[in-house]
Amino acid sequence: MKQQLEKMKKMPPLPLAQRVTLLKKLAQTIKSNQTKIIHAVSQDFSHRCQQESQMAEIMVCLDEIKHALNHIKQWTQTRTWHANWKFFPSKCAVYPQAKGVVGIMAPWNYPVNLVIEPLVAAIAAGNRVMIKPSEITPKTSETLKHMLSEVFSENEVYVVLGDVKVADAFSRLPLDHILFTGSTQVGKIVMRNASENLTPVTLELGGKSPVLIDDDYPVMKAAKSIVQGKWFNAGQTCIAPDYILVSKPKFKELVDAIKQQVKLCYPDFATNNDYSAVVNLSHLQRLKQLLSGLEDSQVMSLSDQAQNQANQKLPPTLIVNPPTNHPVMEQEIFGPLLPIITTDNLDSAIAFINQRPNPLTLYFYSNNQKHIQKVRTQTRSGSLAINETLVHFAQEGLPFGGIGASGMGSYHGYQGFVAMSHMKSVYYQSRLNFNGIVRAPYTQLKKRILRLMS
Ligand code: NAD
Repeated sequence: MKQQLEKMKKMPPLPLAQRVTLLKKLAQTIKSNQTKIIHAVSQDFSHRCQQESQMAEIMVCLDEIKHALNHIKQWTQTRTWHANWKFFPSKCAVYPQAKGVVGIMAPWNYPVNLVIEPLVAAIAAGNRVMIKPSEITPKTSETLKHMLSEVFSENEVYVVLGDVKVADAFSRLPLDHILFTGSTQVGKIVMRNASENLTPVTLELGGKSPVLIDDDYPVMKAAKSIVQGKWFNAGQTCIAPDYILVSKPKFKELVDAIKQQVKLCYPDFATNNDYSAVVNLSHLQRLKQLLSGLEDSQVMSLSDQAQNQANQKLPPTLIVNPPTNHPVMEQEIFGPLLPIITTDNLDSAIAFINQRPNPLTLYFYSNNQKHIQKVRTQTRSGSLAINETLVHFAQEGLPFGGIGASGMGSYHGYQGFVAMSHMKSVYYQSRLNFNGIVRAPYTQLKKRILRLMS
């Protein structure tokens, strides 16, 4: 790993024409390998809904590549301008330059997407790349390694497979940038390791993304969108709704609407191909454990079917008004459990959110522009989605990233290009210039000119 990095560091950045060729080839290879990819992810999860993989692992990545190809010429252009008039006729310019070798560390929940999207940004910016995919989805990681070897030479993109020890060693490499996607806890470790080399980091982390429902908003409409966002990939999405805040008068209507929607979408969750499994037994155990300490009346399974012990599926489950110091309200859920908390009004809901770490996304259902503005300006979150869940991630030109505990820096589209580039500023002095004025000895005339210029 170390020798390979040293070798790659000695190599020049990828020229623009090569970046374009590689990105086109990457898109082609993703298309031709899509069945394999979807199959591998499903094997790793024991079952992942095929259409979810189609959308989240294939479609979004292809859109990101297309967007990069459409804009790469414009992104890579030099920006020039005349310098400050006092330095006339000199010129200034900014050249976007590849940082060097970028490290990508990815989690298991969207194991293809969260490698490919950062890779697109890194390649568009001309970097060479080292990748450490997740050890929790080994079949997908193998498939990715094989697929990427069809597009890139090892000196362009190098994939490292291995466990947490390997990941730890990876994050200690003197890389020129690390884009890490994963938990807040591991993000801190990676940042600590990277700081030893002063390697800059983009941290795409997790946390609890709240849903806030305004009293004016049609409850059934909100329920449809929440069910789609929450139980996509069985809640194993960094921006999945983590809990709902709703006013007391709307509470019962909302619970009924969610129940109805879940029945419609996943009538027989255990055998339903549209419903994804929990990734492994230890996460299944973690999620079951999260329910301990709650009263039976607080836990509302939304399926009539008992859990099938033979598979890793957990039913969609609501948790009604759990204590705010219960682990279900303190840890990121990252699974198909959804607490609903009743609040008095919009102000108390905003206060509830602001008392907690900054979420990755805040969802607000409202048709009231004043309320939308209030939530936008009075809360802090990586992103804010109005009247919809998840799809803001799929807007390839829209920066994606957290703030505070949910992350540092952002990427996607131009923002990804900027994150992976060094914006090198260059100053061109002109052959004829007035620079002598600011050079000692400071004669009376120079002093007067300097006073006039100030
Ligand atoms: P994780 O933090 O356990 O692992 C992420 C990566 O870090 C993996 O590649 C793993 O090999 C590596 N890693 C694990 N322990 C390490 C250590 N001690 N030192 C160095 N590297 C280590 O996360 P996960 O369980 O794979 O993914 C779930 C988390 O990721 C959730 O918190 C979720 O919210 C978050 N996530 C965030 C985004 C985002 O875009 N912000 C997207 C998906 C997932």
